[in-house]
Amino acid sequence: MLSVLALAFIKLNLIKMKLLLCLKCSDVFSLNFKEKTCGCGETKGCYIDELNAEISGNCEPIGFANKSFIDAIKMQQIENKHYDGNRDTCCKGIEFTAFIIPLWASSVKRVSAKTEA
Ligand SMILES: [Zn+2]
Repeated sequence: MLSVLALAFIKLNLIKMKLLLCLKCSDVFSLNFKEKTCGCGETKGCYIDELNAEISGNCEPIGFANKSFIDAIKMQQIENKHYDGNRDTCCKGIEFTAFIIPLWASSVKRVSAKTEA
C-alpha cells in the first residue's frame, strides 16, 4: 500500500502533467520548466508557470485525467503486490484516461520555434 507521503508526491507532480507528441518522429515526452525537445528537434515545449505551457512544432499536447491516472497507479501497485509469478494470470495493466489538449485550451500556447543564437 502506498504511504500518504508517496501519494502526496504523486499528486504534486501530476499538477503539471502535460506531454507532447511529435507528429514527425513520434517521440512523447513530459514538459517541465526547462525547455525539452523531441528526437528530431521539431517539437519543443516547456512550462511557463505551474499550469501553463508554451509549445512549438508539428505536435499534439497530451493531458492525463489526474484522478484516473492516480487511481490507476494505486490499483496497479496493489495488483503488482499480489502478482503470483504466473505470466498467464493477466495480460494487461490498469487503464486510465488521457486526452489530446485542444487548440483552444488556455493552458497551452502554440508559439513559433525559438531560434538558437
Ligand atoms: Zn520530433
